[in-house]
Amino acid sequence: MNKKKIRLHSRLILLLLMILILGVSSVIFFTANNKKSSEGLNGNKNTQELMAQINFPAVSRDQQIGTTESIMNNDDRNSVSVHYPSVGIEGVDSQIQNKVDQILQQYNKGKKGYSVGHDDMESELWVDYSSYVVGDNLASVVYHQKMNFSVLANPEERVSTQVFNLKNQKELSLDDVLKGNYLPVLCSYAKTKLAEDEQLKQQMDSDFFEHGIAPEKENYSNFALKKDAIIIYFEKYQLFSGSEGEQSVEIPFSELSDYLKIDTSGKLLEAMAPPETSQQQAPAQSTPDVKQPETQPVDAKRPMIALTFDDGPSRTITPRILDILSKHNARATFFVLGNRVDSYSDVLQREYEEGHEIGSHTFSHPSLTKINAEDINYQINETDTRISHLIPYSPTLLRPPYGALNDAVKASIQKPLVLWSVDTQDWKSRDRDKIVQKVIGKVQDGDIILMHDIYSSTAEACEVMIPQLVEQGFQLVTVSELLQSREITPTIGGVYSEAIRNNTKE
Ligand code: ZN
Repeated sequence: MNKKKIRLHSRLILLLLMILILGVSSVIFFTANNKKSSEGLNGNKNTQELMAQINFPAVSRDQQIGTTESIMNNDDRNSVSVHYPSVGIEGVDSQIQNKVDQILQQYNKGKKGYSVGHDDMESELWVDYSSYVVGDNLASVVYHQKMNFSVLANPEERVSTQVFNLKNQKELSLDDVLKGNYLPVLCSYAKTKLAEDEQLKQQMDSDFFEHGIAPEKENYSNFALKKDAIIIYFEKYQLFSGSEGEQSVEIPFSELSDYLKIDTSGKLLEAMAPPETSQQQAPAQSTPDVKQPETQPVDAKRPMIALTFDDGPSRTITPRILDILSKHNARATFFVLGNRVDSYSDVLQREYEEGHEIGSHTFSHPSLTKINAEDINYQINETDTRISHLIPYSPTLLRPPYGALNDAVKASIQKPLVLWSVDTQDWKSRDRDKIVQKVIGKVQDGDIILMHDIYSSTAEACEVMIPQLVEQGFQLVTVSELLQSREITPTIGGVYSEAIRNNTKE
């Protein structure tokens, strides 16, 4: 090999080396850039942490109807991931679309409300679904929804359902599927089934569980149909503490044979009743701005009582009570649960606009004597936050669940505490006449009356007794109006259960 050849070889090697270096570095550059852009797409690190925290459940779509549509939106702080079915039947798809629009509206409203004063708030909406088809007639969609706002301590989880008759494109309620007095049957089956879980069984001996599982339509409104069973979905916090999450109970048709309106091939056995008005009610969800509450003077010299309603708002019962109150120009106090106000925001707004008092009944109804000060604060503050983002008001009064109080609770709550002087025991009797008997003829000037706006028997009792109380000369006022008229200034940690007039010595 001569010198010239060696030089040529080394030049070739140098050239190859240079090409290699150029290639490797451009690959490194490209990868780095790529990584950056994918980070931009998924949002910043905090958002990813937020997503990890939520821990999305895997939803199986084994029996999927139609195809899946998705809405995906991500920016630095906000992430939307919504999946829903498209069935290919126009009337059904538009009802699914309405449902999705409602969820998006609720999320956007929350985002707008909670971000006031929190420019760096992060938010997230996630919706996925499962579906069931029975025969060629019936389809059920079960929506699982999580909404997270970083200013709140916990993401909100919801489950909701839509069941369709694909033939006439109508949405079905439970009344379209079952007949007769079916609610007690569903209730007792669900209780038995849930009690099979030892951990759940231990939490079943509570007022809270009894409220959530009571044979009332709205407790059983989330359902889906399988070939041989009906599935009832109970939302997180409906029956148990939040850590238990949502529950579902599958009830075989064989347990419901006397009550079924469908056969196993998915055919409806009886002529379809027109669907419930749920669709017509849908636009009410997009309630415009909240109106100023109506005001009404109170005559301090005349007898008065304060009706109070705990554990609401509810979709069907609260509006009935509001109707009868409004008909008689009466006011009441609603001690609401924080975990219900977002779902029934239109009902809460109506309570406010019609001049009723909104009190707090905590976020998820724990016995305050059994939780620590930090949890008590959460129960109170979370409720205040949620209410004040729906109406321009924050509760001043608190009614402790079960009336449970001790010195530690009194010391840690920054609100006056309201109990009652007349207990209708409406949750126990669920009987219109028994509720009326506890009040009419017994109630005195200054009494505070305890009821719950989640039982139809309570609404029925109100329809009977409110006209009678007004006729007997009682003014029906809010708790704050009652205390004020009797010149009682409620103090933080003070307990008030009546305001009996003490000027009889005059
Ligand atoms: Zn309660």
